[in-house]
Amino acid sequence: MGTTYRVTYVAKTSDTPPSQQAVEDLLHEINASVSNYIETSLLSQLNAARDTSALHPVDRHFAAIFRRSREIYDDTGGAFNPALGPLIDAWGFGPKQPQALPDESTVRTLLKLSSFDAFDLQESPAGVRKGIAESQLDFGGIAKGYAVDKIADLLNDSGVQDYLVEIAGEVRARGKRADGGTWQVGIERPAEDALALPNIQIVVDLENAAVSTSGNYRNLQEDAGRKVGHILNPRTGYPAMSSLLSATVMAPNATTADAYATALMVMGLDEALKFVESHTELSAYFIAMDSAGGIVEKRSSRFPKDSPSRH
Ligand code: ADP
Ligand code: MG
Repeated sequence: MGTTYRVTYVAKTSDTPPSQQAVEDLLHEINASVSNYIETSLLSQLNAARDTSALHPVDRHFAAIFRRSREIYDDTGGAFNPALGPLIDAWGFGPKQPQALPDESTVRTLLKLSSFDAFDLQESPAGVRKGIAESQLDFGGIAKGYAVDKIADLLNDSGVQDYLVEIAGEVRARGKRADGGTWQVGIERPAEDALALPNIQIVVDLENAAVSTSGNYRNLQEDAGRKVGHILNPRTGYPAMSSLLSATVMAPNATTADAYATALMVMGLDEALKFVESHTELSAYFIAMDSAGGIVEKRSSRFPKDSPSRH
């Protein structure tokens, strides 16, 4: 996944926590399934294939991510679309760097290939058919959240009831910390150099929930002097740049939080706020830019208040 992970847990003597090796084996297994950076992954093979009638075999990770993606694609009216592969490559956010960013007619052509409806998952034997030869899946907006949930499953199965799992900002927590305190997460203040200088906007408690932030303030490409972000609007084929700088979603699990955070960035602030209020399992926190270039915060009614104490 090209990033770091962290697992923190509090184990009782009766627990048998998974070894670091077991966690890494699981991550390798998920990568071997859905990474678009590993050429031999099931996803890369499906993307490279041109046969529209063949059933391309997939494993349980692929099938689970595909299924959840389909639900969230339907629920968000296509704002979350894992079939943007060709456009993601063209905009320079895929494994290979393009010579130049796409012009209007290229975007239009690639948008036609970006139909998730053209993909069909078949169960037992599990396989996927691609209806359009050049279409490509990209699970970059959901796979890290899924991996967090699978690590959480490993911990749950081993009896561990207090943990925090994190992969590059996709976080899921259960129970309490070793000192009995509540797990807390900091939400970053948007800044292009945030990786170099972490800057925390707010801190919230995370109680038996997951949280994910998507933002268009880092991982940028330059298009004719304009910065463009890595979240694309599936309705236009262009990067989803709006006043919305970041969307943070809290949800029961990390797969859900990850994918919806990406979708909310596509919707923009007003639509995203309405959407979240109508989904009882979701809450969200937004950071946007106002017309004067200042920072404004908005939180949905169910999003937790700032943590009373910071530890
Ligand atoms: P991050 O990777 O920084 O955690 P996200 O979870 O928002 O950020 O995922 C962004 C990634 O999702 C992009 O790099 C791309 O691979 C993919 N993507 C971009 N736009 C969309 C979209 N509209 N729907 C689904 N996936 C997308
Ligand atoms: Mg995401």
